[in-house]
Amino acid sequence: MHKYGLHAKKGFGQNFLTDQSILRNIVKAAEIDQNDNVIEIGPGLGALTEQLAQAAGQVMGLEIDDDLLPVLKDVLSPYDNVKILHQDVLKADLAALIQQEFDRPQAPIKVVANLPYYITSPILMGLLKSPVQWDCICVMMQREVADRLTAKVGTKQYGALTLAIEMTMDAHLAFGVSRHSFVPEPQVDSAIVTLHRRKQPLAVQPFDKDRILSLIKICFAHRRKNLANNLKALSGKDADKKAAILAVLDKLKIDSRERPEQLTLEQFIRMGNLLHDENL
Ligand code: SAM
Repeated sequence: MHKYGLHAKKGFGQNFLTDQSILRNIVKAAEIDQNDNVIEIGPGLGALTEQLAQAAGQVMGLEIDDDLLPVLKDVLSPYDNVKILHQDVLKADLAALIQQEFDRPQAPIKVVANLPYYITSPILMGLLKSPVQWDCICVMMQREVADRLTAKVGTKQYGALTLAIEMTMDAHLAFGVSRHSFVPEPQVDSAIVTLHRRKQPLAVQPFDKDRILSLIKICFAHRRKNLANNLKALSGKDADKKAAILAVLDKLKIDSRERPEQLTLEQFIRMGNLLHDENL
């Protein structure tokens, strides 16, 4: 950055990884090989991009900060399998870019990134909502968010984010990374999480995934309240609706005094499907 007269921009979540062994371990965790197309979100100064270029078939990097483009051009000049696009990942049509930019768009497609922390959740939700069938999403994020993504039912970290991911992916915490491995140092530690498409299909199919996710959000709106109290957001003061909700919980043998973190994804899906039958 010194060489180019640049400073890390906080507003773009710029914390650059400098430890080569961590960069190599990220590539290992994503199990990248020469057959893979890789999308890197926020290539920054190109340190991870270089490792990806050496391991993958092709790499496409999407970088929002145009000041970094000349740096990336220099650093990545030895590699003819890398394309850097000046794009905001939250606005990009990834399915279209895959068709346009990769020579073999049908080859396995992976996302590897040291994510800008300020938009970790919107990026993940965008990737999961996209029609692209990701073979693997391997991303660095704040440790606290990684713990939420991979949390087990009944724990403090288990919540709407855990369940939204679990709906389509198997999440695994690959390894933790100290804040000292970045320049500038962020105020929190980080971790690498890998997401793969679910091996086991869902035990119950959701009638409508988005509606189940909305229901989950309602149930977790106030973590310290029990289910019956959180679900009042659905019924309002309508006594019939309230009774219908309690009847659904009863049918599923779910105690309305349970807290939301006690319920599995399967229970939320069954509840959402039955509430839908009741027009709720
Ligand atoms: N990959 C580099 C590394 O590991 O050192 C940089 C990682 S840094 C945490 C995040 C990168 O994402 C920065 O380069 C930043 O400019 C870029 N970025 C931030 N918001 C973005 C967005 N909406 N779309 C694309 N890139 C973005």
